[in-house]
Amino acid sequence: MLKEFFENEGIFCYRELSVSDLTVNDEAKFQRIEEKMGRIESAVIFLIPYFVGQKTTNLSVYAQVKDYHRYVRELEDRFSRYCKEKKEELSFHILADTSPLDERRAALSAGLGVMGKNGLIQNERYGSLFFIGEMLLSRAFSPEKALPPRECCGCGACLAACPTGAVEDPQRRLCLSMISQKKVLTPEEEALFSRADCKWGCDLCQNACPANLGAEMNPIPFFWEDRVDFLSEEVISSPKEEFQKRAFSWRGRSVLRRNLKK
Ligand code: SF4
Ligand code: SF4
Repeated sequence: MLKEFFENEGIFCYRELSVSDLTVNDEAKFQRIEEKMGRIESAVIFLIPYFVGQKTTNLSVYAQVKDYHRYVRELEDRFSRYCKEKKEELSFHILADTSPLDERRAALSAGLGVMGKNGLIQNERYGSLFFIGEMLLSRAFSPEKALPPRECCGCGACLAACPTGAVEDPQRRLCLSMISQKKVLTPEEEALFSRADCKWGCDLCQNACPANLGAEMNPIPFFWEDRVDFLSEEVISSPKEEFQKRAFSWRGRSVLRRNLKK
C-alpha cells in the first residue's frame, strides 16, 4: 500500500523505520501530534526531489519552485483519500521541515543518502536537491532496520567554494543562506551579504558538489508549475495569494526587500 501510494506520487526514495529508531528533537511537539493521531509506531522517511533544471540566480534553486510545505499538505490530503478508498483505518501525519524528528538523522538511518561536508545529505539519484519528508503512522507496516550514518567522499570542493568559511563551522554562523533569512544582521553579516550574489539562500557549496552532477529531474508535477526564476520587486509585491506560494514568504516582504537592495 505505501509503495503504491508513494510511487504513484513520483516519490521513489523512501523507507519505513520503527519509531524507536528515530531521534525526537522536539518532545513537546511529538506529544501534541500523538494526542491528535494516537500512538506513533513508525515513520516513512522520504525524499521530495525538486530539481527541474533550474539554475542558481539571485534565488536559491529550492526557492524557485512552489513552496514544498504546500506540496506536503496536498500529499496529506491525497493520502487521506487513498486510505479511505482502500478502507484502511490508519492515523497519520505528514511533515517536512516542521517535524519534531531529527530529519537529517532519520534520512541517514533510513539509508537514503550520505552526510556531506556541506551539511547536506546526498542521495544517489537526486544529489542534495531534495527536501526530507516524514509520514508518521499509527501502525507499523514493515519497518526496516536502521542503518549507521555514512559520509561523503570528502573531496573538499564545497569548502573551496564557500566564500565565508561556513562549511567548516559546525554552527554555520556565517552561512549566507542563514544570513539571508535573518531579520537583523550584524555589521559583519551585512558586509558579507552585500558582496554576495544571492538575495535568498546560497547554492555555492551545493553547486560545487560532485554529487549533484547528473542529478535526476524531479517527476512531481507540483514542482514544475508556476516557478519564479529571480527574486524581484515584482515577486515581492505580488498579491498575497501569489506571494504565499513561495517558500520565502514566511520571512515577510520587508526582509526580502532589504536583501534585494544589498
Ligand atoms: S563537495 Fe565533496 S566534500 Fe563537499 S559535500 Fe560534496 S562530496 Fe562532500
Ligand atoms: S550555503 Fe553558501 S555560505 Fe552557506 S555554507 Fe554553502 S557556500 Fe557557504
